[in-house]
Amino acid sequence: MKHLSEYRDGERAQKIIERIHASSKKEVRIMEVCGTHTVSIFRSGIKEVLPPHIVLISGPGCPVCVTATEEIDKSIKLSHEHDVIITTFGDLMRVPGSTSSLQSERTNGADIRIVYSTSDALKIATNNPEKKVVFLGIGFETTAPTIAAAVLEARNQNIKNFFVLVLHKLIPPAMDALLSSGDLKIDGFMCPGHVSCIIGANSYLPVVEKYHTPCVVAGFEPVDILQSIYMLVEQLERGDAKVEIQYKRGVTFEGNRNAMAIMERVFEPCDTPWRGLGVIPKSGLRLRAEYKGYAAESIFDLSVPKAKEHPGCMCGDILRGVKTPVECPLFGKACNPSYPIGPCMVSSEGTCGAYYKYHAGVK
Ligand code: SF4
Repeated sequence: MKHLSEYRDGERAQKIIERIHASSKKEVRIMEVCGTHTVSIFRSGIKEVLPPHIVLISGPGCPVCVTATEEIDKSIKLSHEHDVIITTFGDLMRVPGSTSSLQSERTNGADIRIVYSTSDALKIATNNPEKKVVFLGIGFETTAPTIAAAVLEARNQNIKNFFVLVLHKLIPPAMDALLSSGDLKIDGFMCPGHVSCIIGANSYLPVVEKYHTPCVVAGFEPVDILQSIYMLVEQLERGDAKVEIQYKRGVTFEGNRNAMAIMERVFEPCDTPWRGLGVIPKSGLRLRAEYKGYAAESIFDLSVPKAKEHPGCMCGDILRGVKTPVECPLFGKACNPSYPIGPCMVSSEGTCGAYYKYHAGVK
């Protein structure tokens, strides 16, 4: 297939659905790790056309959703510094911290600016030499190379007032943590397309080998997702566990070596907190010693009180795949896209938001 429309073609989709029904005998639980997959699955109604014994579970692959409450609290604390301009991607603005959000702080006068790229943040730093400009670096391996490149650019241009609060998360350690927790049964992973473009499909080999859990890297269109489910079902029916790539037009086994090299030059792995999953060893990034001067922590005290979660919000359980949004008593009532209580409703890739928008029977 060459054209995007072919990945949305109803006839092709129908043929794969028939193959899935013909092959699938065992009850299987497949986790789609990525929030973009979750949204695509809901939008195209894929759950409704699968045999009932194939269960799709939404995972922790929404970068905004897994940003820990204490990390939002640190960002808010930074925004209270009188000589700081916070720069961030817009989707972080409404994510709740313990008592506030960046959006509320901006309404109250904090200088928080939404940017569309790290170049915008560097420009703000150049234009405001009397201020300290802090970029909130969130996201998975997809965005981390861009932030690493911005740090290198700041050094090349001798920009001394640019800092990063590095909140990045790494996907393979989270998959390992989900399997090792024993909280829920996962028979196979539908692995994220965008992250895998950077890290390559071989990055999932340790999970496959340690847990005998098959992994298929999937594209984002309905035919991609159905093909990936079929590939996982075939492996599971045969008792295989290997890494396969369905999304061959975007992903290789080796990944993007240039992007990985920039990321590894600037960052090193560290333990980091995830909303709902706690601290996962080596699942985050921090600046290497050579670049420590660009870390927000190098000039500000970012200690914050123990984070407080909204008492009714079940985002943590939803991000671990152990609950679905409709099990949350606030879903669709006190919590909805206009008045989101948790990040899973705030984000366009959040599971609660996707359920609210597309789930049959939910208004
Ligand atoms: Fe949290 Fe709202 Fe989702 Fe409930 S519906 S888990 S309150 S985001």
